[in-house]
Amino acid sequence: MLKTVADLHTHTLASTHAYSTIREMAESAREKGMFAIAITDHARTMPGAPGPWYFSSLHEMPALYRGILLLAGMETNVLDLKGTLDIDDNERGRMDWVVASIHDLGLPGLEDPTVERCTALWMHVAHDPVVNVIGHSGSPKFRYDYETVIPEFGRCHKLVEINDHSFAVRRSSIENCRTIALTCKKYGVPIVVSSDAHNETQVANHGKALEMLCEIGFPEELILNANRGRVLQYVRRHTNFLRNRENAEEILRGLEHA
Ligand SMILES: [Zn+2]
Ligand SMILES: [Zn+2]
Repeated sequence: MLKTVADLHTHTLASTHAYSTIREMAESAREKGMFAIAITDHARTMPGAPGPWYFSSLHEMPALYRGILLLAGMETNVLDLKGTLDIDDNERGRMDWVVASIHDLGLPGLEDPTVERCTALWMHVAHDPVVNVIGHSGSPKFRYDYETVIPEFGRCHKLVEINDHSFAVRRSSIENCRTIALTCKKYGVPIVVSSDAHNETQVANHGKALEMLCEIGFPEELILNANRGRVLQYVRRHTNFLRNRENAEEILRGLEHA
């Protein structure tokens, strides 16, 4: 039976279409057996998103909070078919954890997507050093060439997200999510299972995604957040956490030996 130990894509009321505080999210995560949570509110292009000061000050929140590791993150929007992201230089240096996702907001930039254009878009994002997670990329409208891009995500240490929320709110993506997972399995590319919670009751809701992964015989060792040591190793090697946070080394060591 597959299980998870961290939820690395969640929203708080700062997103203004989500409804819980960081404290409520963290406590819910701990109660549900998570050792870590990433708070990844929407970047500026999303209507109602918090302003730049929210993100640049987010690391004021303690990295060890309410008994769990709290990663100060952002869900940045892919703005156009070139793969431009709405994260500025200041935020790039300060975020511990960045999810990059396409949201179809009807703004200029993402018109006439084709498989070829979306492949180029994700290839660009694959090479952006600030990105950790490729968020809910199963949309049929923005279908890309999985065989080309997914191995590149792996080479560039991008985690491919299987988003549990998609099984409820992006149902047209479900079939592609399965194909994406199968492609990750084929090429040995690590994934992350996320709730994309918009309130505290949804934290650690990973069941539907895990059920699908079980069905396709997805290897446990490729699910980053099925294992504490793997999450910590990734945070250590591929994020700004050590540079950004006071006592970061001590915190990571403490968690590694807990
Ligand atoms: Zn999203
Ligand atoms: Zn989200």
